[in-house]
Amino acid sequence: DAKLQSVLSSLSQVARQLDALPSDRPAPGSSWVKLNTNENPFPLPAIIMQSAIAALERQYLYPEDDNISLREAAANAYSVSMDQVIAGNGSSELLGLVYRAFLAPGDSVAMMSPGFSFNRKLATLQGAQFVEIKFSEDHSLPMEQLLFGPAKDAKFILLANPNNPTGTFVPVADIERLVAKSDRLIVLDEAYVDFAPENGLRLINRYSNLLVLRTFSKSYAAAGVRVGFGFGHPEIIGRLRNIQNVFNMNVIGQAVGISVLAHRAAYADNHRHIRHERRRVTLALSQLGFSVIPSHANFLLARVPTGQDGLWWQSAFARQKILVAVFPDKGLENYIRVSIGTKEQMDAFLRAASRISRILN
Ligand code: PMP
Repeated sequence: DAKLQSVLSSLSQVARQLDALPSDRPAPGSSWVKLNTNENPFPLPAIIMQSAIAALERQYLYPEDDNISLREAAANAYSVSMDQVIAGNGSSELLGLVYRAFLAPGDSVAMMSPGFSFNRKLATLQGAQFVEIKFSEDHSLPMEQLLFGPAKDAKFILLANPNNPTGTFVPVADIERLVAKSDRLIVLDEAYVDFAPENGLRLINRYSNLLVLRTFSKSYAAAGVRVGFGFGHPEIIGRLRNIQNVFNMNVIGQAVGISVLAHRAAYADNHRHIRHERRRVTLALSQLGFSVIPSHANFLLARVPTGQDGLWWQSAFARQKILVAVFPDKGLENYIRVSIGTKEQMDAFLRAASRISRILN
């Protein structure tokens, strides 16, 4: 109608530039095996669930401003000071703050590629140039390009470690070398780091140009309540908190965050399970002719057997009510990404993979 057209024509240039999201994305019921967005497959431990329910009693009031208790708990748990911590609704919110704080139209931002797609959207919204730097063939950092190539003028450089969607991991010593040599802000997105051998958090005490992002969406099974953290130099953290809504998180997110921090040990079996299934599914997929990139995250990126592409496999899995992710727009036409779920989910996934393989052969 005319009014809608008039409203749509008032959208900003950048908002119009973004492709409209598909309006009818599959909304699988519980009968689907959902392995496309790297959630943890287990519910929150009961004791944490109880703190979420208790928090509801306070919901008629605004949440504590500036997430003071949550930041204090995070500072204690990670042995940093409170002014080195910012909390948000998932690390997505914090990524958004970084883009808004550092990028004006015409500026550029660099990301290691292939990487997490949300970043391109955030750059577009700022009217910024999005520069993608490819990982080297062996998945290491192309140091020359990061220091002297197009990334040298970027306002900040983004690097997820372990990386999404590849699941590959760069040794922290390499990241330290980059942070030490670069005068750019390095945003180290450690969304999946609890599934990896080491993390780079301690580096924030040595380098002022490092911001580390963490989330409780993956390793701590809290994707639905949205809890994330940023760690860095107090001056940078302060600037980010400055542009944040003081009531950004809700009472449940704050309570769950605090409770997870108090009960991190309760996740040992959870993480062991994911590492175990990761190994098992890697092997089983290889035997079916997939070529699996060794993963340090809670998902696998696998090259499908020759003959059909990733999209074909995705629909073949979907016909068996199994959701996996594909990235044809990232030069990964022949890959699928599958999250590590419960043993039952992975059995269902492997059964489907083997059934599909038999049809092909
Ligand atoms: N960074 C990376 C690399 C991710 O894969 C994701 C989730 N897919 C996020 C950040 C955002 O996670 P959340 O907002 O749930 O913390």
